[in-house]
Amino acid sequence: MSAAVNNRPVIQLRDLAKTYLTGEVEVKAVRGVTLDVYRGDFVAIMGASGSGKSTLMNMLGCLDQPTGGNYLLDGAAVAGLGRKELAKLRNKKIGFVFQSFNLLARTSALENVELPMFYSHPLISLRDCRQRAAQALEQIGLGERLGHHPSQLSGGQQQRIAIARALINRPELVLADEPTGNLDTRTSVEIMGLFQELNDSGITLVMVTHELDIAAYCKRLVVMRDGQVIRDTRNESRRSAREEIAKLDEAEQTAKLA
Ligand code: ADP
Ligand code: MG
Repeated sequence: MSAAVNNRPVIQLRDLAKTYLTGEVEVKAVRGVTLDVYRGDFVAIMGASGSGKSTLMNMLGCLDQPTGGNYLLDGAAVAGLGRKELAKLRNKKIGFVFQSFNLLARTSALENVELPMFYSHPLISLRDCRQRAAQALEQIGLGERLGHHPSQLSGGQQQRIAIARALINRPELVLADEPTGNLDTRTSVEIMGLFQELNDSGITLVMVTHELDIAAYCKRLVVMRDGQVIRDTRNESRRSAREEIAKLDEAEQTAKLA
């Protein structure tokens, strides 16, 4: 049902580490993570609060530099890049989705989705920008809501806009930190369905979640504890969001008729 996980690593981590120094105290947030993620994979990162998930994601997203080890993103070394170069790499290769959507409040759906394009393609015309953003929103079923502001939309719709924004620069990799953390069950399944479709189309996804129910839609489960990976397994019984939504719809119909 899904695109194969193939032989090109998008992420290669070798003994990656991050130590925070606050005053005199050292916090080893990530302690030697070695991990390869191949193109087309869909990874859930799990683990208790404080186990280093967000720190790892920040490094994967080139938002923060490691203090040890190596990171190759799509074959290119991230270590040693300055802020500007990191930002460029990030904008080109990575889309981000957050728990709290992180949309600009007083800005329309369309403008929220356009924004990353202005940074990555400064010479693109406003018209092309508009067109591409509108297309992206139509594709995820929000074509009727282009002019709406986030506050006029449901949580699920806001997260869809955030996903359209994450995809607008056609990234290699999508990183999501608890993307369903603020959504009800049905909406969560819908968002996971959208992620599964993206993944089927070849996009690599890495997602932090603390819910086993949500991780069950991913292809691979990586568990962290105290800054290290303690388990890394393929998910042999992957749930299909599309099938589950179809079942939920059917049950609703039956209930209506009864
Ligand atoms: P998780 O996302 O799994 O809850 P984090 O990566 O946020 O874990 O945190 C891992 C550890 O690093 C925790 O002990 C946390 O307190 C510490 N930590 C995270 N960010 C910072 C920071 N900016 N400065 C100092 N310590 C931090
Ligand atoms: Mg966290």
